[in-house]
Amino acid sequence: MNYKNITIAGSGVLGSQIAYQTAFKGFDVTVYDINEEAIARSQQRIAKLKENYKRDLKASQEEVDAAYNRMLFKMNLTEAVTDADLVIEAIPEVVDIKMSFYKELGALAPEHTIFATNSSTLLPSQFAEATGRPEKFLALHFANTIWINNTAEIMMHPETDLNVFNEVMAFAKAIGMVALPLYKEQPGYILNSLLVPFLEAAELLLVKEVADVHTIDKTWKIATGAPLGPFAILDVIGINTAYNIVKAKAEATGKEEYRKLANLLKTEYIDKGKLGRATGEGFYSY
Ligand code: NAD
Repeated sequence: MNYKNITIAGSGVLGSQIAYQTAFKGFDVTVYDINEEAIARSQQRIAKLKENYKRDLKASQEEVDAAYNRMLFKMNLTEAVTDADLVIEAIPEVVDIKMSFYKELGALAPEHTIFATNSSTLLPSQFAEATGRPEKFLALHFANTIWINNTAEIMMHPETDLNVFNEVMAFAKAIGMVALPLYKEQPGYILNSLLVPFLEAAELLLVKEVADVHTIDKTWKIATGAPLGPFAILDVIGINTAYNIVKAKAEATGKEEYRKLANLLKTEYIDKGKLGRATGEGFYSY
């Protein structure tokens, strides 16, 4: 493994998880965020992660403490990246914020440093020129609760160097991820390219009154052997997220079926506090 020092930029929900997992697997980690409040929030998140690692991975107190001791926290980007072999960016999903971050980072980071974005919906080619090193830039996309749902989708853009891609694949494995290579840019990576149309098809069966929630889920589960049907999956994701996707689609297409579906999710679920598993009720009660 060529990489030793890893910098995580943005220490929110995902950044804190990526940083802690990387330190847990023995790398030296620098966490970069923009102000003291954000750093303090990250440290609180990491304190919780230590408990989760003890509970879920049966990690010892010594192991979770040792991981924390491999982490440094910085608010100065120059200091944060001075020794970085790899910078993983997990800052807000806002084009302007990412664009100005990459321009600054590209100017400050050592020449050999590789950059990876954890963006869920934006394509790396959008930021490739801003980095000043398109061949050393790619996507490295984690899933929430990284220590359990340990997928890492590694995606090239047209200018990514294949050696860099292979190095980042090896790094992802070294931090305990199942590394999933994507050789072409694809909005939604593999998972959401499959999941979003699947869930939408199920929702449209419901809104067109073809079948009810239980029947649709039962059909899928028995026929494919899957443990969850689409509506049980929607309960895990949360009805708010499902609503936001459908609402955007209704606005983009003007199609009546999406408008009806958005309305159903809003009036029958969101307005009644049925947001999915997190609130104890969604399409199912928990
Ligand atoms: P978040 O809002 O929890 O965290 C963002 C962090 O970035 C905050 O700590 C914020 O202070 C910091 N930040 C803001 N501007 C910055 C800047 N210019 N430089 C450095 N840090 C800055 O967001 P999140 O949910 O962790 O998402 C971050 C990225 O990860 C997004 O691109 C998102 O698409 C992706 N992602 C999120 C999830 C998820 O489930 N939340 C899953 C996979 C990927």
